[in-house]
Amino acid sequence: MSRTNALPTEALAANGPEAGDTPLMTQFLTLKAAHPDALLFFRMGDFYELFFEDAERAAAALDIVLTKRGQHRGQDIPMCGVPIHAANAYLARLIRRGFRVAVCEQLEDPAEARKRGSKAVVARGVVRVVTSGTLTEDSLLEARTANFLLALIWLGKAEKAAGPQIVALAAADVSTGSFHLMQVQEDLLLAEVMAYAPREILAFERDLNRESLKAAIETTGAVLSPRPSIRANPAQGEALMKAALNTNTLEPFGTFSTLELTASALLLDYLSVAHAGGPVQLSAPRRSEPGQYMVIDPAARIGLELDRGSRGTREGSLLEAVDRTLTSPGARLLALSLARPSRLQDEIEARLDAIAFLLDAPSQLKATREALKSCPDIERALMRLRLNRGGPRDLLALANGLKAARLAFERAAETGTLPERLAEAARAVDLEACPALWQLAAHIAVLLVSEPPANARDGNFIAPGQDPELEAQRSLMTGGRQHIAALQADYASQTNTPSLKIRHNAVLGYFIELGPKAAEPFFSPPLSTQFRHRQTMSNAVRFTTDALAELDSKLSRADDAALARELELFEAMRAAVEAEAAACLMVAQAVGVLDVACGSAVWAQETGACRPVIDNSLHLQAEAARHPVVEAALKRQNKGFTANDCLLDASGHGTHPRLLVVTGPNMAGKSTYLRQVALLAILAQAGLFVPARSLRLGLVDRVFARIGAADDLARGRSTFMVEMVETATILRQATPASLVILDEVGRGTATFDGLAIAWAVVEHLHNESRCRALFATHYHELTGLADQLAFAANANLAAKEWKDELIFLHDVRAGPADRSYGVQVARMAGAPASVVRRARNVLTRLEAQNGPTSRPSLTDLPLFSALTDAEADLTEGQAPLEMPVSSTASQADAVLEALGAIDPDSLTPRDALAALYALKSVAQAKDPSEQHS
Ligand code: ATP
Repeated sequence: MSRTNALPTEALAANGPEAGDTPLMTQFLTLKAAHPDALLFFRMGDFYELFFEDAERAAAALDIVLTKRGQHRGQDIPMCGVPIHAANAYLARLIRRGFRVAVCEQLEDPAEARKRGSKAVVARGVVRVVTSGTLTEDSLLEARTANFLLALIWLGKAEKAAGPQIVALAAADVSTGSFHLMQVQEDLLLAEVMAYAPREILAFERDLNRESLKAAIETTGAVLSPRPSIRANPAQGEALMKAALNTNTLEPFGTFSTLELTASALLLDYLSVAHAGGPVQLSAPRRSEPGQYMVIDPAARIGLELDRGSRGTREGSLLEAVDRTLTSPGARLLALSLARPSRLQDEIEARLDAIAFLLDAPSQLKATREALKSCPDIERALMRLRLNRGGPRDLLALANGLKAARLAFERAAETGTLPERLAEAARAVDLEACPALWQLAAHIAVLLVSEPPANARDGNFIAPGQDPELEAQRSLMTGGRQHIAALQADYASQTNTPSLKIRHNAVLGYFIELGPKAAEPFFSPPLSTQFRHRQTMSNAVRFTTDALAELDSKLSRADDAALARELELFEAMRAAVEAEAAACLMVAQAVGVLDVACGSAVWAQETGACRPVIDNSLHLQAEAARHPVVEAALKRQNKGFTANDCLLDASGHGTHPRLLVVTGPNMAGKSTYLRQVALLAILAQAGLFVPARSLRLGLVDRVFARIGAADDLARGRSTFMVEMVETATILRQATPASLVILDEVGRGTATFDGLAIAWAVVEHLHNESRCRALFATHYHELTGLADQLAFAANANLAAKEWKDELIFLHDVRAGPADRSYGVQVARMAGAPASVVRRARNVLTRLEAQNGPTSRPSLTDLPLFSALTDAEADLTEGQAPLEMPVSSTASQADAVLEALGAIDPDSLTPRDALAALYALKSVAQAKDPSEQHS
């Protein structure tokens, strides 16, 4: 494909049309100038065509042919196009790649334009700007995932008072109408943004350099859409919100700060541009107050793999493991509950009550799910209809969905009195509360055929016998068609031409068709007086007659009239749905609530999960708890999971520690244990049962996790830097009500630095943060902290050697681990035998000097500095190992320094013995200068 000498569309857009441009180009450039940042899909008959740089970018992104169409100001116009019928698939690809697309339609019939003169251009206009955050079509959306658009507003320099920076966040899922507003401190922004997993983020141009905005974009992968600050202010926010909510006052919805109103203005203004001035339909905003939700720290959300597994998809995530919902609204509600667990005990208990109720009635549960199974996505079908983008198929989805919802609640109620949360949801399907809605649903179901087209303009969606006016037109059409069949037979016999056929196409209407040979007599009298020639093709000749032309126009009038009547009926139903939108949306949400409760009950049943006991204590007491994702993965391999207890109490009054130092060999299950504890808290506060024999949980305000190692090279941070930034955040922000899990903090740097940092972090968590915390480490020295810190204890994951094999028990026990088994794990992992032998050799030597669990003294650390070539060549059976000295201090200094560091009062007898060995080895170490002499 040759790259044409394109005029940059942006430059053209800026300049707009000029005198001398063709009328069509003038129209294109005018529309393009209004949408400079979008690809303009310019409707030309059955295609959307793109020109200039738009064409080049789209052709490259879609891998379609780039061609030329005429010239503009002396240069070729690059062009590419996509057929209307396949446009959605192309749109989906462009949107996925971060483009926005302005869809420009023909606003009149070309015949109308021709009436204005042969050079008149068909009127066109942009009817919608499609962006990743404003999608409503099922083909462009994931059914089980919400699609949030976020608007973020920071206080400007002029308004900013002393104290932390505040950011307002407005979030809307345009496909369902859900709308959230909140104000957060900037250091919590990323956690909140991640909970919505937005597809697109709006921000003022003046804020584009803010680090917190950059982090939000990078972490979520959302498209950033910068907006000029003149497009949003609080007064506008108030006016646009009133319009979107169809109300004169915002009072019933709460009070909003000026910052929140500005964020709403930014969001709603963008939506009105995206809808090309069409209606913006959102539900009443839900305001989040601080304290309503558990905050899941960004590193924890990623590390705990809550909604995405390690490959960035749902696979391997907590959400995938627990999701048994059957409807799209249910799947989306569950995802949101897990993304933003609650901190309100009543809310959590209400959700748990619903699950417990369903678990007590297995046959009703089964029947309810049977009904839910056939419930289409009412929420999104409704929104498409409200936005004038819906078709007959959406109407039918709505009618069927409403029916299935009623049936599902009827089944659920068969057991007895529904618990409050389900009873409240059931009120949405109460026939008496909103009779009009149910009459409408019944009316739609009767009126529509069983498989209507997606688009109303395709017609034939009203069932036979439902509307007299439509029936009249349809019988005209049926009569006409019979008439045509009779005419064909008549002409064939009259002309003695059995091959004569009457056919139809969109351009000619009805015509008589003959083969070239058979057609010859029709060109001469007498036949030519009756049969008028219309068209000659290579293998056919077409004629018409007065009678056929009259019949054709009668039929086409009836056809138009029938379609017009169908469209009228569709619009009436659409308007009726819009009038009942609020009631209908409540049903959709009720379906979500019931489906989440049923799905959660089924998951609890399958996995033997229990109801957690939630209170305001600082306890976390889990008996026989399991990691739902690891357990599911092991189950697929027919392996069992070892359940473990975890007893924490941050109050400092009871018998349980607030902090556990978890040690154990590699692969023993430390990370799994830490993660499962955090997952229990998240599941419980999301209102789900938990995989344990029992759980008592004092409400957690924030979950922090520092797990795994990842570079953030894009932001110029090394692995260790990331680790330290995350750890620092935890130490600064954790409160006594928080839950912190830290996995091997400090391992990313030199041993002593790492140990020192890990040590100080544990002390800080214990003494300052005073939160419930689990700290997994390979620094055995840290196990000594349990003796020094009043509310810390050791736990270890055991392994045992049997016939030269290492067996992991995955069993958490009190006390420190006895040894590490790292060399055995290396062997199991397939390290070469020579390396394993050498490692054993070095280890034996070090243990002889230091004891099995103590860290080698400064002088014993060759493992962490480079071995000389000669040493590296040593293998078992060769000359005994001599440890080179890495310290440059004299032995006397080193001994004195080591001695000074010992605090005899804090040593256990075992540590004292290890310290003595360490001192002796320091004293015996050779001076490096001697080695070289
Ligand atoms: P390392 O110190 O090398 O990071 P680790 O001690 O953190 O290792 P994990 O990664 O938690 O070990 O677990 C290793 C594997 O052991 C898991 O992938 C899982 O297959 C298995 N495992 C962990 N915990 C259990 C358990 N409680 N029951 C059964 N299998 C388990």
